[in-house]
Order: sequence, then C-alpha cells, then structure tokens
Amino acid sequence: MEAKVISNFFTKYRSFFVCIFILPASTVYNSYRYIRSRIMFYFMRSPDLHDNRVKKIQEQIRQFVKSTSLSEKSSVPSRQMCTSRPGWQTMSVHEGEYKKKMHKIDIKLFDILEVDTQRQVVKLEPRVTMGQLTRTLLPLGWTIPIVPELDDLTVGGLIMGFGIETSSFRYGLFQHICTSYEIILPDGRLVKATPEENSELFYGIPWSYGTLGFLVSAEIRIIPAHKFVHLTYTPTQSLDELTKMLRNLTDVQNQSLPTQYDFLEALLFKKDHGVVIMGRMTDSADKQKKINRLGRYWKPWYYKHVESNFLKNGGDEYVPLLDYYHRHTSGLFWEMQDILPIGNNPFFRYILGWLAHPKPSFLKLLQTDITRKQYVNLHVVQDMLVPIEVLEDTIVFFHREFNTYPLWICPARISASKPNILNGFIKPTSSCDMFIDVGIYGAPRVSGFIAKDSCRRAEAYVRQCSGFQALYADCYMTQEEFRQMFDHRLYDNLKDRYDPNRLLPDIYQKVACVNRYPQFPL
Ligand SMILES: Cc1cc2nc3c(=O)[nH]c(=O)nc-3n(C[C@H](O)[C@H](O)[C@H](O)COP(=O)(O)OP(=O)(O)OC[C@H]3O[C@@H](n4cnc5c(N)ncnc54)[C@H](O)[C@@H]3O)c2cc1C
Repeated sequence: MEAKVISNFFTKYRSFFVCIFILPASTVYNSYRYIRSRIMFYFMRSPDLHDNRVKKIQEQIRQFVKSTSLSEKSSVPSRQMCTSRPGWQTMSVHEGEYKKKMHKIDIKLFDILEVDTQRQVVKLEPRVTMGQLTRTLLPLGWTIPIVPELDDLTVGGLIMGFGIETSSFRYGLFQHICTSYEIILPDGRLVKATPEENSELFYGIPWSYGTLGFLVSAEIRIIPAHKFVHLTYTPTQSLDELTKMLRNLTDVQNQSLPTQYDFLEALLFKKDHGVVIMGRMTDSADKQKKINRLGRYWKPWYYKHVESNFLKNGGDEYVPLLDYYHRHTSGLFWEMQDILPIGNNPFFRYILGWLAHPKPSFLKLLQTDITRKQYVNLHVVQDMLVPIEVLEDTIVFFHREFNTYPLWICPARISASKPNILNGFIKPTSSCDMFIDVGIYGAPRVSGFIAKDSCRRAEAYVRQCSGFQALYADCYMTQEEFRQMFDHRLYDNLKDRYDPNRLLPDIYQKVACVNRYPQFPL
C-alpha cells in the first residue's frame, strides 16, 4: 500500500522531480563526460590503454567460460553473458529483463582512439556518444557521414542496433559507414572483421544486438565538415505531394538530385500537412541575417520551431553544423512534451534552459511501475522502415492505428545484395533500395487503443511490405514472425560457428516483448 502511495506521488509530480533532480544531475554528468573526453583525447590517447582494457574484458570472458561447465552452458540462461551497462542507462525505451539473470561483462570503453586523416577514418570505442564525437571531430574539420541526432546514442548501440539519420538517403545506415570492427568472441578470442577479413562476421554484426560477440572498437569513415547547413523548408499539403517530392529527391536515376543535398527529412504534423526539410553543408552563410543558432539554450524545441515558422509558407535558414546534428536533442524529437511539458515555455527556457537537457537514461530512473505500465500500454515508440513505394499507404495505415503526430519521415538507402557484399538481418527482398523510416513517438489518439494489438497489426503490415522494425522499440512478434521479417541465414551460420554453446543469448530472446516485460501482462 505504502509503495503504491509513493509510486502515485512520483508519477503525479514527475515534472517537478525532473527539474529538481534530473536537470542538475544531467548537467553535472555531461560536464564530467565532456572534460574527461577532452583529457583522454588530447593527453592519454595511447593505444596501450585500449589494448589493456580489451585484455581485461577478455580475461573476464575467459574466466566465465572456465567456470561454466558445458552442461550448464547449453541450457541455463543464467550462464549466458551480456554487457554490464544497466538498462536504465541505454537510449532504448525498455530495460532488458535478461540483464538481471545473465553474467555481466564490464565494458568500460568510452574513448575516441584515433583520427586518421590520411586514411579518412576515426577509431572509436563502443561507448563513445554522438555528442562526444561531433564535439571532437568538428573542431578538427571532420565529421562522420551519418550522425544520428541524439547526443547520447552510442557507437556500439548504433552498430548493434539501428543507426539512421537524415544523410541516410545518401549513405545508408550507420553500419554502412563502418570499415572495421574489433570483436571479442564468446570464447574470449579477439578478432578483426573487415569487408576482406572475417567478412561474414563483418556483415553479420550490425543489428545482432551483441549476440555474436562484444564489440570493443570500430573504425568509421570521416568526411570534411562544413560550418553550416543551409536548410530549405517546403510545406506539403497532401500525402500525395509529400511522397512525390520525397521520391523525386531520392531518385537514383536522376543523378543530379540526390547529390544536391546532404540531408533530407520530413516532419508530418497532420496526415496531410508536413514540411520537407532539405539541407546542404556549406562554409559560407551569405545571408547573415538568417543564421539560426538552434543549439542556444533558449531556443525552442526544433519541431516546434519548424511548425511555427515553416509549416505555412516554408522558407530557409542557415544553422551551424553542430546545432543541426543535435537539433532534436532538447525536445527528444517530441517525447519531451510528455515528460516535461513546461520545457518549451519561453520563461522556462530562459531561466532553466542553460541546464543540460534531461538525459533519457536519468529519466528512466524516475520511472515507477505506474509510469512504466503507462509507457508500454498508452504510448508508442516505433521506427518502421518501409520501401518508399508504399510510403503513402503506410502513413494512412499508421494514421488509422495510432493517429500520433508529428511523424518523423527519414529516407535511407538500403541496397539488396551487391557483388561481394553480404546482407545480414536487413536483406531487402524488393527491387526498391530506397526505404523510409517512419518514426512514431507519442500517445496514440485512437479510441480503445491497445498497444499490443495495434503494434502487432503494424508489424504484420510492415512484414507484408517487406519492411523492417527497429528493434530498440517494443517488438510483439512471435519468433516465427520475427524470422520472417529478418533474414537469419547469415546470423544462424555465425551463431553456430562462433557461439556453439550459446554463451550469448539469441537475438529474439533479447528483443521480444514477451521477454522484456514479464513483470506485467501486456
Ligand atoms: C527517443 C528515441 C529517439 C531515437 N532516435 C534515433 C535516431 O534518430 N536514429 C537512430 O538511429 N536511432 C534512434 N533511436 C534508437 C537507437 O538507435 C537505439 O536505441 C540504439 O540501440 C542505440 O541506443 P544505445 O546507444 O543506448 O545502445 P544500447 O541500447 O545500449 O545498445 C543496443 C544493443 O546493442 C548492444 N551493445 C551495445 N554495445 C555493445 C558492445 N560494445 N558489444 C556488444 N553489444 C553491444 C546492447 O547489448 C544492446 O542489445 C532512438 C531511440 C529513442 C528512444
């Protein structure tokens, strides 16, 4: 009874606790991470440090393997391994229940190891965040081709998980800009995987959610950075207009078009009303008056800025590159409106906006059983990748199932197998190689909404269109349906080869809702 009263109290006054505890804690933690990252990058970037850390991880794994008899390994999940990063620290919406039962391997790998401008690659440890990376690379004049928007997304999570951004229509997913991985296999061996060396592992690692091995470093391509992004906002008045425009802008046959822009996304504020946003990197902002430093603490949430200024008549502006990359961080796309509704109020922004944005990881600490249940049952966070040819139909379908706006619309090029390139989980079956990520975040506004039923219908729809669900979100599919959506051929082969005793969990075991929320029925 007492616990229920406390839980109710925390639920009712959540915004207050966010202001009092989460904002200051986020500021202190971000400052610590920033200073640490600077010191490590400029003064302590010795390859030996990384090698020693990797050896320690190998020791942990070898000890675990030694202490686990074969009979235990094959059947009991408690004798499986996972990373020690607690569920509340991750960006994913759920807290994996599997963490409680498995043996945890401590992976303390937070640093940027090397920026090699000759080879045009950066070598990173897996827990480097996007915020840390852009703040290090941009002053050096470099960037990576795909920077997923939120500051706290990690290199490891983006390779193992999703990895999409507004430049994906040119470069693909995060995995497509990686050139090599260092992996510790479940038996403790350290291997390098590149398109030439251990190539099957190289193509099998993305989206495998840490179920083939532990990632300890990755090399990622870098490209020259420019000072600004020139953004052009074009409103659309119908779904037909939106889809035609996106098709045209991403049309590979039309050689001149895709190269004109570096970034492309659309925000859909109502079924028929959206804004297509095209961005081009540039060093000169000739129209000085139009420079908009979006990252300043008093600036409104990005989607609100777009809605108020460009939904009706469109327009353009210049945004500093760093501010562009992290434009959705303060509003967490539009999730913050439910967590801290006052957060976009001008008084709040001017008075408290200088404090860091609440970290999603810290926010999860404030979750009570009530908010967690509400979140799962009355809220939807899903990203679905569908072929561009069914975009209009998909939006109509999601409108019927969820009626949640804004929607994030982000094109991504995902090619079916090319010679010498293997597809892992994501193997397009249609001839179309342009996909659109439709991001649905918020509380559905359909009467009688039941999360499980709507999401299952959406998953069935996406399967039928040969699309894919982002697995950080809630996955309600049965194992059989899951195997229909994701191509398991390479994965099964690698699992048998590198993890015959199943010392790491199976991917379905990690991502399926039935395993994520055993504490309350869905
Ligand atoms: C509000 C919101 C907005 C989002 N926006 C975007 C977006 O714009 N673009 C985008 O691409 N994604 C987005 N995501 C999803 C995001 O990509 C996933 O959550 C992703 O998994 C990254 O999260 P993370 O860095 O916290 O990784 P984690 O959740 O920590 O990791 C994901 C998986 O990878 C495994 N893993 C991580 N590191 C290692 C390692 N070193 N070795 C072995 N296994 C490892 C973990 O065990 C876990 O299973 C968003 C998510 C939310 C909640």
